[in-house]
Amino acid sequence: MDLIDTHCHISHLKKGQKAVIDRAFKVNVTKFVDVVCSVGEIQSSLKLAKQYDFVWSTAGIHPTMLTDKLEEDLGKVRELAKNEEKIVAIGEIGLDYYHDKFPHGQQEAFFVAQLDIARELDLPAIIHLRSSKNPGGNEEVFEDAIRILMREDFKNGVAHCFSGNMIEAEKILDLGLMISFTGIITYENNDVLREVVKMVPLDRMMLETDSPYLTVESRKGKAGEPSDVKAIAEKVAEVKGVPFEEVAQITTANAERFFGI
Ligand SMILES: [Zn+2]
Repeated sequence: MDLIDTHCHISHLKKGQKAVIDRAFKVNVTKFVDVVCSVGEIQSSLKLAKQYDFVWSTAGIHPTMLTDKLEEDLGKVRELAKNEEKIVAIGEIGLDYYHDKFPHGQQEAFFVAQLDIARELDLPAIIHLRSSKNPGGNEEVFEDAIRILMREDFKNGVAHCFSGNMIEAEKILDLGLMISFTGIITYENNDVLREVVKMVPLDRMMLETDSPYLTVESRKGKAGEPSDVKAIAEKVAEVKGVPFEEVAQITTANAERFFGI
């Protein structure tokens, strides 16, 4: 049963890209969405996507990578996303109050402008939401994101690397978005997130590694790889008490439909 890594950064690897892909294939992870964080990364991601049939790319500006050239950068995202067949989503975009590198108003402006591009080009959006380190930080970023998505009436998106609570997950689902889970659902101390996994219906869920930046409990301390999707799917199956095949089949179908891949 094939699996898809809906969010990885293979093109960020300086070496060993092929080895990482080979190891993923060995555990039936056979499609990869290589996600970019800035305009400057789009070409190297596209190169990978053109080299391999089973890799797709995105275009977008991460909320920690904003620049002073708002119009110019957005123009490039739009132009490439419009003309390059292998760009299948706008992302990753959103709000990052953890690194908090830019004022929230500026983050919101870039986020909204890129949601507009996604809508115009009929592409899905990959949405990054990271809370501040302050107590109650999660509420702040989700409140802002939900307010923005509701106001913009934007539904064709995925809340990537979901790490919110039950209420926030319900709100994201109510808005019509998908939720994707990374290896953090396998971390020993993450019972709260596993409760969220239990609640989110399989047909609203996708799987991703966000590798090499995140990994799974069993390989903690090492760089993550797309092959980790298997352990993530196994954890979802265990938490939900359903067969692995069912998790694989439904999440793969979701990803194929969502990205058109
Ligand atoms: Zn990422």
